[in-house]
Amino acid sequence: MSTIDKLTKPSHLIDMSDIIREGNPTLRAVAQDVTLPLSDQDITLGEKMMQFLRNSQNPVTAEKMGLRGGVGLAAPQLDISKRIIAVLVPNSEDTEGNPPKEAYSLAEIMYNPKVVAHSVQDAALAEGEGCLSVDRDVPGYVIRHSRVTVEYVDKNGDKKRIKLRGYNSIVVQHEIDHTNGIMFYDHINKDNPFALKDGLLIIE
Ligand SMILES: [Zn+2]
Repeated sequence: MSTIDKLTKPSHLIDMSDIIREGNPTLRAVAQDVTLPLSDQDITLGEKMMQFLRNSQNPVTAEKMGLRGGVGLAAPQLDISKRIIAVLVPNSEDTEGNPPKEAYSLAEIMYNPKVVAHSVQDAALAEGEGCLSVDRDVPGYVIRHSRVTVEYVDKNGDKKRIKLRGYNSIVVQHEIDHTNGIMFYDHINKDNPFALKDGLLIIE
């Protein structure tokens, strides 16, 4: 049975054993465009990826299934070399501890996502980045575009164009990179991982 056939079976829940780790050549390959209109199997795979993210962010489910928490997942991380990503970025509580009005600042399954425009300004997360396919800490500023415009096809087959900034922009760039064989640490300055170049926006 092929990997996608296995992962899209109704009874299957994606867990850490389905995620390939650095060193696997699929993570360095340029993934294939998804054919349109979307196949039922590609739609199901996207839904399974999103379900994984939801499970990974639920403390009880994550504990039971042994999941690391994640805000994004790309099909190549499942050894499926297709341009499919899922992103699920929760909003945090306000300073008084009240739950946010909207649970997520970004929740989307994207097919054939592409950065079509970006800011001149660069940005990096203050705490660096992690990856479900990387079982080690790699410290340093991961230099990315501060703001991006992304085009993609959504799960209904509709073409979308969105502008992203801040954390959402970083998460989507990280996941799109996976469809191009790029790992987050490729963007860290090798000689000085915390070099502060001019105009770099640090996102706390
Ligand atoms: Zn990653």
